Amino acid sequence: MLKLAPRAARFSILAKPSCPAQPSHPARARQRPLVQGALALLLGLAGSLAGLEAVAADETRDYHYSDAHLHFVDFFQQGDGLGALLDAMDEAQVDHALVTGIGVAKKWQQDAPKKPRYYMGDDAPVYWYSGTDYILAEALTRAPEPVQARFSPFITGFNPTDLNAADEIRQLMAIYPGFWKGIGEVFTRHDDLTRLTEGETPRANHPALMKVYALAAEKGLPVMVHSNITSKREGHEGLYLEEFESAVRDNPETTFIWAHAGTSAELNRRLGRMTWLHGEIERMLETYPNLNIDLSWSVLEPYLLDDEGQPRSRWVALVERFPQRFVLGSDVVGRFGSVGDILASYTPFLDALSPQAARNVARDNFLRWVDLPVK
Ligand SMILES: [Zn+2]
Repeated sequence: MLKLAPRAARFSILAKPSCPAQPSHPARARQRPLVQGALALLLGLAGSLAGLEAVAADETRDYHYSDAHLHFVDFFQQGDGLGALLDAMDEAQVDHALVTGIGVAKKWQQDAPKKPRYYMGDDAPVYWYSGTDYILAEALTRAPEPVQARFSPFITGFNPTDLNAADEIRQLMAIYPGFWKGIGEVFTRHDDLTRLTEGETPRANHPALMKVYALAAEKGLPVMVHSNITSKREGHEGLYLEEFESAVRDNPETTFIWAHAGTSAELNRRLGRMTWLHGEIERMLETYPNLNIDLSWSVLEPYLLDDEGQPRSRWVALVERFPQRFVLGSDVVGRFGSVGDILASYTPFLDALSPQAARNVARDNFLRWVDLPVK
């Protein structure tokens, strides 16, 4: 049973304006690339010129965002709530957000020395948790219409190895008609999270997910899939790439968003930077017009930015080549205080793009994918 605070109590905080005395994160971050560029020039470092020129050409950039990867709750299905989320969005100039739950819940086992704080906190498993979609829907459908309009809720609370999954999604869409705008984040290959997940191992081309992709195409819903490109041991090749690629290839009418471009923080820790990732992403974008890339979480470093925090020219060129195929996201899980800082950390990369491409990536691409007007 969901426990919700009385309606009036929950929405009294929604009326609170975000603190005007605090400068917005993007405004703070705008200063940074120029300083970094100047420093890099002083030190004789190569690679900073593109970013410097792009910023110099348009110093009035003031990014507004679509946060295209935001979890309303954490792995225990708890979170700060809608009021805190709206405050964070206002402060960070996030006009719109892809909001989703977390498709699994972490078990607190009776043998645990203490209550775990994260899914990797101890060895207890996680299990598929459909309540997450109802927590999100109950919070959002009670909000005023202008608040609802700032969110694109995605369905995530299903077991992607259950051949019933598509029917469950259909049922959920009937319970909240017109409410859901997409499906995901679907957890498939995800290093330690996969290891801890009870039951059959999910993979992007599982027959159960193939039915979900067909439903998504029928309803015109994009699907965000987390599918690591490889395992945390086999960094020289895309061990799991074919699973994801075949899903994209065999469902040309389905719009895919590849979460984190196939990377994860754990892959980064274990493998460092996979130098071949750029080439695979480029090939995939060339080959499959129904594929899009989410740059959240583990992509900024070490891929988009180098060790000095400067944009890598190959990735800048890739986004410029496909300027309508990339989005950003905070990937916060239930706690929203860091949304502004996380999105602002993309500023050096955005500043290295042309103004139009930067606007697309920061905000407009996601709006187009969910059929919202781009102002
Ligand atoms: Zn996520």
